[in-house]
Amino acid sequence: MRKAIWISSPVSGGVPCFKKSFSVNKKLIKAYIDVSAMGFYDVKINGKSITSTIFNPGWTSVTKRVQYQRYNILDLLKEENEMEILLGEGWGGAERLGWDGPDRPFFSPSLIFEVTLIDDDGMKEYISSDDSIDVYSSYIVKSSIYDGETQDKNLEIKYLGKAKFIHVPTTIIHKVGEDIVEGERIYPLKMFNDNNGDRIIDFGQNFTGYVEVSFKGKKGEVISFTPGEMLDKYGNFYNKNYRSAKSFYSFTFTGEFDTFKPLFSFMGGRYIKLIEYPNDIKFDSFVGIMVHSNIKRTGYFHSGNEKINQLYHNIIYGQLSNYLDVPTDCPQRDERLGWLGDAQVFCKAAAINFNVLKFFTKWLKDVELDQHKDGGIEGVCPKIHGLDVMVACGWADAATIIPYEMYLSYEDTEVLKESFPMMKKWLEYVESRGSNRYLWLGDNHFGDWLALDAPYGESVGATNLDYLASAFYAYSTSILINVGKIIGEDVSYYEDLYKNIKKEFLKEFFIDGLPKGEKAVLGKTKQKTCYTQTAIAIALQFGLYEECNKEKLLNALTSLIDEADGRMTTGFLGTPYILHVLSDNGRSDYAYNLLFQEKNPSWLFSVNHGATTMWEHYDGINENGDFWSEAMNSFNHYAYGAVYDWIFANTLGIRRILPGYKKVEIRPIVDKRLGFASGSIETRYGKLASSWYYQDDHIVFEVDVPNQIEAIFVDNLGKRITLNKGKNRLYRIL
Ligand code: BGC
Repeated sequence: MRKAIWISSPVSGGVPCFKKSFSVNKKLIKAYIDVSAMGFYDVKINGKSITSTIFNPGWTSVTKRVQYQRYNILDLLKEENEMEILLGEGWGGAERLGWDGPDRPFFSPSLIFEVTLIDDDGMKEYISSDDSIDVYSSYIVKSSIYDGETQDKNLEIKYLGKAKFIHVPTTIIHKVGEDIVEGERIYPLKMFNDNNGDRIIDFGQNFTGYVEVSFKGKKGEVISFTPGEMLDKYGNFYNKNYRSAKSFYSFTFTGEFDTFKPLFSFMGGRYIKLIEYPNDIKFDSFVGIMVHSNIKRTGYFHSGNEKINQLYHNIIYGQLSNYLDVPTDCPQRDERLGWLGDAQVFCKAAAINFNVLKFFTKWLKDVELDQHKDGGIEGVCPKIHGLDVMVACGWADAATIIPYEMYLSYEDTEVLKESFPMMKKWLEYVESRGSNRYLWLGDNHFGDWLALDAPYGESVGATNLDYLASAFYAYSTSILINVGKIIGEDVSYYEDLYKNIKKEFLKEFFIDGLPKGEKAVLGKTKQKTCYTQTAIAIALQFGLYEECNKEKLLNALTSLIDEADGRMTTGFLGTPYILHVLSDNGRSDYAYNLLFQEKNPSWLFSVNHGATTMWEHYDGINENGDFWSEAMNSFNHYAYGAVYDWIFANTLGIRRILPGYKKVEIRPIVDKRLGFASGSIETRYGKLASSWYYQDDHIVFEVDVPNQIEAIFVDNLGKRITLNKGKNRLYRIL
């Protein structure tokens, strides 16, 4: 943008409309507009929107960089043209983001654009944002991400004055992320009055997006509503878990047939409670519209077990609900932030379900830009004004775990090269903490977040924080070594470092081959200990044990599961690994039992309680129907959906031997309770599919191998069979 300057409305509040008229007197061969905002923008030329994508320019670490988009507008132009741009506060100009608001934002809502017209002589003409632009009020009275949107098309539009120049110190870059788009339309199941007399509409599916209303109301009549994710145990509308996010939507009818939807706000929920409404409004006047990043679906799964199918459905909808330009924790309460821990826990499953390479490449760059000078990485990215979030193990390690996973999934080395300096700086930070450079001791962490071995109501699980921090230190170092070797960097320093970390780790936290401390007990462990399911799962997964003690560790893990009555007690950090370490070490019986467990804590507990997305807590609703504290109880948090990467690698048996799935092993582990299983992944080398089912006295395995993939079937006795390209069918006698 050559001459454009950042401008804002002369009057704060509301959603201003910037207008510019211009004539075109020559024959144009090209016409486009570049536009960006601190906030959300919506451009219309001669009354027509220039794009079907939404929430532009997206969300980046706004003090460092903001994206602009370029749109071809040639077909929209006439001799006399009017351009109108609505500007909402969005992410970049938000009054507040996060729970500690209201706070001053980094920036006030502001806009920058430039129209380029190129005629058939190759001459260029520019129309740029400057202080000659006229600003008006608009039909959007107010709009914000957390609080919702109020629209009134009957309002008289007022002239607010000329645009003001505003200083916005950031870098403008061309769009690097995925578009944000409207997805599935969700039609409501029913409208009913709850016991409080509130009129409720049930969409049957928890989702992120907005509700569109189409109705012919009387002029001046209002429809307003607020969303909720759950009904309480009495069947009444509930949304106390939204905390300070008001999520209030209001539209005033014009007297004509109106169709309303918010332009610059989104909500999370399954239900809406109508607040003001015309009495004759019908439930089919409403439709839910999902919004998410335009990531391409690559994975599918189906089995003969309806509960597992529902769990898989919840994982997919949990991902779509939270992949909104950045990986957010949840879409409903006053957070909706790019929490790193959640993102890393789920990234492996994410990359099976959808192609997330571009999505993560963009966000990882922001993680790098937000990294502190000393290498520290806060738990949330993009950085929020006024919120300094803890630098914590398992959260900051997203900086190593996610780029490496992107490489393994897509064979992309660019993301590794880009992230390598950030990874190194991150390890320098950890190395500098505390008195022992080979351990990370003494800092505070989120720990095994929401693990259920701690007493009921506590958020930080029972696993010793120094243990977790040092284990992730080792893990990130091992990733850095692998990455360095792939991209041709010298990693000898880190190889030594890793050996020392492992040695010190075993010395500090283990005794006689087992983790130190009291055995953790479900719901009862007051004192932090190294003897938890999570601690053992992590040691086994990260290779932090001596080979001679492996069996002992595995037995300790299965005993802890037995003692918890066949249940897992792992939180955010242990859950992604526990099933893997069991099945990788010959205990897939335990892994499957945990998968099929229905008592809390378990995956199917939420399914039995009607979940349609993943819950933040296994027991968001407990056995007697009460909610977990309203302070932190999201029903659309994707982290525990990480279990799908286990299902994929074990039930379907698809194991990546070379990055990008160039070479795979197919080792399905069958279980009668599933009946059958069938699934696939669209890799960069084509679609790979695996399924099995019971037939008479045998099991039939079917594997479809694309031409460029080398696949080996490994049967339950370890026998290896090279698979043909195309369809393969194998049998095992029962
Ligand atoms: C978020 C989490 C996040 C956590 C940090 C919560 O409030 O919703 O998902 O990872 O804080 O521990």
